[in-house]
Amino acid sequence: SLSGRLQNVFSKLRGKGKVSEEDVNEAMREVRLALLEADVNFKVVKDFVSKVKEKSIGKEVMNSFTPGMVIIDIVNKELTELMGGSQAKLAKSNKPPTVIMMAGLQGAGKTTTSAKLAKLLQKGNHRPLLVAADIYRPAAIKQLQVLGEQIKAPVFSLGDQTSPVEIARQAVQHAKDNGLDYVIIDTAGRLHIDEELMEELKQIHSVVSPDEVLLVVDAMTGQDAVNVADSFNKQLALTGVVLTKLDGDSRGGAALSVKAVTGCPIKFAALGEKIDALEPFHPERMASRILGMGDMLSLIEKAQSNIDTEKAKEMERKMRNAEFTFDDFLEQMDQVKKLGPIDQILEMLPGMNKAKGMKDLKVDDKQMGRVEAIVHSMTKNEKQQPEIINHNRRKRIATGSGTSVAEVNRLIKQFDEMRKMMKQFSGMMGGGGKGAKNA
Ligand code: GDP
Ligand code: MG
Repeated sequence: SLSGRLQNVFSKLRGKGKVSEEDVNEAMREVRLALLEADVNFKVVKDFVSKVKEKSIGKEVMNSFTPGMVIIDIVNKELTELMGGSQAKLAKSNKPPTVIMMAGLQGAGKTTTSAKLAKLLQKGNHRPLLVAADIYRPAAIKQLQVLGEQIKAPVFSLGDQTSPVEIARQAVQHAKDNGLDYVIIDTAGRLHIDEELMEELKQIHSVVSPDEVLLVVDAMTGQDAVNVADSFNKQLALTGVVLTKLDGDSRGGAALSVKAVTGCPIKFAALGEKIDALEPFHPERMASRILGMGDMLSLIEKAQSNIDTEKAKEMERKMRNAEFTFDDFLEQMDQVKKLGPIDQILEMLPGMNKAKGMKDLKVDDKQMGRVEAIVHSMTKNEKQQPEIINHNRRKRIATGSGTSVAEVNRLIKQFDEMRKMMKQFSGMMGGGGKGAKNA
């Protein structure tokens, strides 16, 4: 996957001081390939790579960071920029109704998305009207009516004998008359872009002057989706794009190229066939998802401001050499506590939610108290060499800490998991742990 590939790239970069040209070139060679493989537009990749290079080379590498981390940070920010920087909101007319025209090729997901969007608007206490302006495709009207019923949104239809332009015009009037504040016009599509289709869309556009023209494109079609968006945009001033079928195994290329190629922001992402599978598109979240980093970058920033760097360095060295003991564990817990609630911190670490054994590790602060009690009941030797903690010792520790043998067992098991994972984590961050390869 794109994120897997990118993580591998960054794990290779070590060293200190400044980010060297060599570091950047090595990383960007791989990033370039990963992006091309994900079907990102060639020119977009080229511009992206040169931008990241320009910003990375010569950058200072701070304490306990690696060049890989510095470059990830820049790549993450640039990916976000590439997709428009911040979330592009849906327009709202100050003279209701707000008119939204949906456009796109056949099968892209216009009708489904119209209903999903109506549902989102309803959640925001709006009263949307769905308009059946696809009179050509058999059962298109019926499809919208069924969806409308499902979400209890009114559907405006004049059958298939009235022109779509007239339907759209009357629908807007109907919304005004009935206090409906959004009008969503579901238009017809074709298999390919043709004159007739464009002509009809332009006519609807000139009659209703929509506040939004949303182009619905299928993310699975990769660069084709981007080409379609480009052609539509040249003929019909688009205000936004909806990327559908992101739940499928699309390679992410469309999401990354659309804005750069068309200048049109992605406003929504559809992630399934269900009626509530539509969400506002957040470039920064998509970038993190692509990098597979969770919220690691904000964690790093937080850690940097809170954690004693000298101690952190020593800890890092121990993790790398698998010398991590229960004493370190206690100290680590102290450090971690300074960062905030532990479950939130774990969530921010990449791969943590997926990691084996981590699912049942529900840590809250009260539980941390019990964990600390267990560790405090260990002898000096036990803390330094957890391997020696046999059954009798476990019983003694349980009694001493006022917990149970089961709890002690669980902690020791989790400690082992954690050791493994820290090794993997430090490997991914450029520490050289063997786990890096499967990260
Ligand atoms: P239209 O021709 O543009 O109106 O497309 P439709 O709304 O009729 O959708 C075509 C097909 O794509 C339908 O089977 C939808 O259920 C499906 N579809 C639409 N959006 C999504 C999505 O986000 N994910 C998945 N998996 N299927 C989708
Ligand atoms: Mg349709």
